[in-house]
Parts: sequence; C-alpha cells; structure tokens
Amino acid sequence: PPRPHWLFGDQLGPHFLDPRHGGPDPGAPVLMIEARSVLRRRRFHRAKAHLILSAMRHRAAELGDRVTYLRTDTYAQGLAQAAEHRGAAATRNRRHAEPVERKAQLTVCHPTSRRALDFVAARDDVEILPARGFLVSHDHFAEWAGRGSGKGLRLEGFYRWVRERHDLLMDGDAPVGGRWNLDHDNREPPPRDRPVLDVRGPWLPREDAIDEEVRHDLDRWERDGDVSFVGRDGPRRFPVTRREALSALRGFVTHRLPDFGRYEDAMLAADPVMSHSLLSVPLNLGLLDPAECVERAERAYRAGDAPLNSVEGFVRQIAGWREYVWHLYWHFGEDYRHRNTLRHTEPLPDWFLDLDADAVTANCLSTVLAQVRDTGWTHHIPRLMVLGSRALQDGWDPAAVTDWFSRCFVDGYDWVMLPNVVGMSQYADGGLMTTKPYTSGGAYINRMSDLCAPCAYTPTHRTGARACPYTTGYWAFLHRHRSTLATNPRTAQAVRGLDRLKDLPELLATRTQQRDTPP
Ligand code: FAD
Repeated sequence: PPRPHWLFGDQLGPHFLDPRHGGPDPGAPVLMIEARSVLRRRRFHRAKAHLILSAMRHRAAELGDRVTYLRTDTYAQGLAQAAEHRGAAATRNRRHAEPVERKAQLTVCHPTSRRALDFVAARDDVEILPARGFLVSHDHFAEWAGRGSGKGLRLEGFYRWVRERHDLLMDGDAPVGGRWNLDHDNREPPPRDRPVLDVRGPWLPREDAIDEEVRHDLDRWERDGDVSFVGRDGPRRFPVTRREALSALRGFVTHRLPDFGRYEDAMLAADPVMSHSLLSVPLNLGLLDPAECVERAERAYRAGDAPLNSVEGFVRQIAGWREYVWHLYWHFGEDYRHRNTLRHTEPLPDWFLDLDADAVTANCLSTVLAQVRDTGWTHHIPRLMVLGSRALQDGWDPAAVTDWFSRCFVDGYDWVMLPNVVGMSQYADGGLMTTKPYTSGGAYINRMSDLCAPCAYTPTHRTGARACPYTTGYWAFLHRHRSTLATNPRTAQAVRGLDRLKDLPELLATRTQQRDTPP
C-alpha cells in the first residue's frame, strides 16, 4: 500500500502530491498536523496565523477522505497519533498476525526550515523526498555555486544562469531584447499628480465558513492566554486555496503586470500595493509554483500584453531573487543566523515590537508600520529602506530584527527572512549577499515617495527640531562604521561626503537627542 505523505503547512499546492520525479507514492493518503506549539513559540502577526490555518484547513477540506488532519500540541505528538491510527487500521485489516511496521512509514517533501528538516531527519519513520516549489534543485544550485567559486555568489550571475538553464525570456542564447537587466527602467519615482496608481486593484478573496472558524479559534486561544499575537486580523487579503491563488495570478498578469516594472521601487502613502503582485503569500504557502508564474508573465510579453521591463522585472524577482534567497539559506548554514559583522546589539524598542505606528512622528515610518500592523505586508522598498534602514541606522541586533520580520509579515518564513534580513537589509554578513549596506537619508525616501511632504521632519534638515531621523541616522551610521565603509568601493564616496559635512558634531548631537523618543 502507498505510504502516507505528510504535508507541512507551506506545501499545499497539487505539485506536492505529484508522484512523478521522486514525489510521494501514487495515491498516498495524506497526513496534516496543526501543531499549536508553533504558534506558542513566538508572538505572530494574527493575520499570518489566520492565513496559515485557513490555508491548511481549506486544503484538508479539498482532500476530504484522503487526509488525516490532526490538531495536536506538537508535531511529535501528531506523528505518534498518526502511527497509532495506522496501527489500529492495520490490526483491523490484518487476517494473519504479521509485522506491519517497517522503516520510513511516511514520506514528506524536504521542509523549508532547518528546524523542521532537523526534526524529520532525526526520525527513522520518515523519508525525506526532494524539495518542491522552486525552479532550481539543491544539486543544480551546488553545481552553479561550485562553478562560480572565488567570484562570489552574486544574484546577477545566478539569475542569468537560471534564465539560460530554464529558457526563460531567451531568444536562442541571448536574452530577449538583448539585455539581461532592465533595472534602470524600473526605478521611476511615483506619479506626483495622484495619490494612487492608475491600475486595477489587486484580487481580493471572499471569506467563508473556514475563515470564520479560524477567527473563532484564534479568539479563543488568545482569550485563554494560550497564544498572543501582534497586528490586526482584518478581512483576509491573500489567497489560501489553489483556485484563489490562480485567480490572483491571472488578475495580476492581466491587469497589473504591465505597470509592475516602472514603479517597482516607488511608495505612495494611500496605495501600499501599487502594482506589486501580492503573490508572495500563495507562493510561500506552496499554492503556486514559481514556474507557472514566470511562464505566464513571459506569455504576456510574447503576446504583446506587457512590456519587457515589467516582465523582466517580475521574472527577476521570482526566478532570480526568490530562488537565490532559498538556496543561500541552505548554502550559508545555520551560523548565518547569528552573523553580526557590524556588531549591532541594541534591542528593538517597544513601539517597534508592538507595531505602535501612532507613537511614531516620522510619516514614512508611521505609515509603513501601520501597514504592517493592519495587513502584515508592505512591498520590498518599505521593508528595505524604511523598516530595515531604521534598524540598521539604529544598530539593532540583526537576529532580533530577523525574528521581528518573520513574525510580523504574512509571507515571512525562516528561509526567506534570513538572507533578506541578515544579508540584504542588515549587512550582518559583511557583504556575502550584497556589495554594500542598504540605507539612505531622507532625500531618497522623498524622491521615491509622497511620504515626506506631510511629515513633521524635513529630509534636508540635519540638525534641529525638523531634522529627519533618516538623514541624521544615515550620516551617524556612516560615521560609526567609517573605517569599514571607507574601504568598500561602493561606499567610499559616501564616507568622503562625511568629511565635507561642516555640521557633523551638531548632527551627531541631534541624532543622540532624537534617540530618546520614537522617531
Ligand atoms: P512582488 O514585488 O510582486 O515580487 C514578485 C515575487 O518575487 C514575490 O511575490 C516574491 O515571491 C519574489 N521576491 C521578490 N523579491 C524577493 C526577495 N528578496 N526574496 C524572496 N522572494 C522575492 N519575501 C518573502 O516572500 N517573504 C519574506 O519574509 C520576505 N522578507 C523580506 C524582508 C526584507 C527586509 C526585505 C528587504 C525583503 C523581504 N522579502 C520577503 C522580499 C520582498 O519584499 C517580498 O517578496 C515582496 O515584497 C512580496 O510582495 P509581492 O508578492 O507583491 O512581491
């Protein structure tokens, strides 16, 4: 008989049950375990807890009799219960007494976190099958990383290799349009004449009885003091089923992809989503396969429905960044989590931990923090240049910052947060992933958004009551790490700029004063 296949909560699409290419046994019964201890371990955003539980329960409802869905405290308890069920069923069905237990009675696809991988690897009743949900296998990544030894593991080389290998946006051996990278076309500031982009809004789900049940359970657990959450669990905004995920993908490619590239880096206070896809949740729940996302985008380009800069930008995010981050997570190893090259040790302030947007004066930070509080999502630039940059400038402990992002973002999982926060946003790996720290003064935020105009601070002010905390924080950061940054060709010029600042002592004094209260 086929061995049961265990699905983790981020392995919910049909490809996780496809028996081909080293998948589970054909027709395998399915096991799902909703382990409460996962929620108890950390204070999650409530919308994130809602999404994961809702997605798991929807999947179980779809699988019907094929699934055993267990609600337990821990995974180990779930597996023990499942083994008991199997034992009882085997006894019922057995005509002769014979040993039914054999090694690896269960299969599971390679989990997405090191913790879960260690857990399943330590059990001899579980066989680990190859990972699903990514374009590049571990072996192929190792091949690429081995080839590039000495040259560093930079995104650009990896991305081109993925495009060639998977024949994505290629004309023969050459990239479509003759260029691999259209980033320069994708850095436009937002339109100044309107508060929201002129594109059709993102696909939105309709909640159902399962969502209601989830909300009821979360209320009860919270009331009982069993778990505690941050953020608000407003109406659900992201897909939790395959059907919903496909609708969201279709809606994005048809209506929003054409404008994706142009305003990719821009921010508008009243339009947090702009033309981003909002597909990270269904992708990270395993409801969508990245191959289908990039193929659909390419088809839109070939049909003349979306311009190359948008399609290339989107393919770069999924076939480039997402794959790159997934493989770096495994490649860099467990120690990566504790990297702290800049020796940042400040604890996260309470207003940040509690998503207390109302306590913050800086309009960019207050707006973005409110988006996180209300939805558990913001796009890439607010994460990097508003939230991450604040943490970097203020010297917050990068491991605590990673933990905060994982808890507060609806698409946050260990594999994706670690490289994005430790490497990309906090430069705690000393440049393994990026060539320079990502931070800026208020001028960048002002150029790329409409967030500064109504702010109590002024981006160009470096001292005094209106000094922008991003501007003072930027210079103070350069000053603090002058010796490291002066030797990096990508930051050396910025460090030289410090020497031209006549008011540096006053700026640093302003920065010190600012740190007594939320920015
Ligand atoms: P779009 O802008 O529409 O991009 C399309 C897709 O590309 C995304 O859905 C995502 O799957 C993929 N993608 C783009 N950039 C990245 C990246 N750097 N890493 C991985 N995938 C990427 N993304 C997550 O999925 N989960 C996270 O926990 C997460 N944490 C982040 C933390 C920081 C500090 C930063 C700077 C970025 C983080 N990202 C994370 C990457 C990126 O911000 C989100 O994937 C994106 O904002 C999700 O919104 P979207 O689906 O509309 O993305």
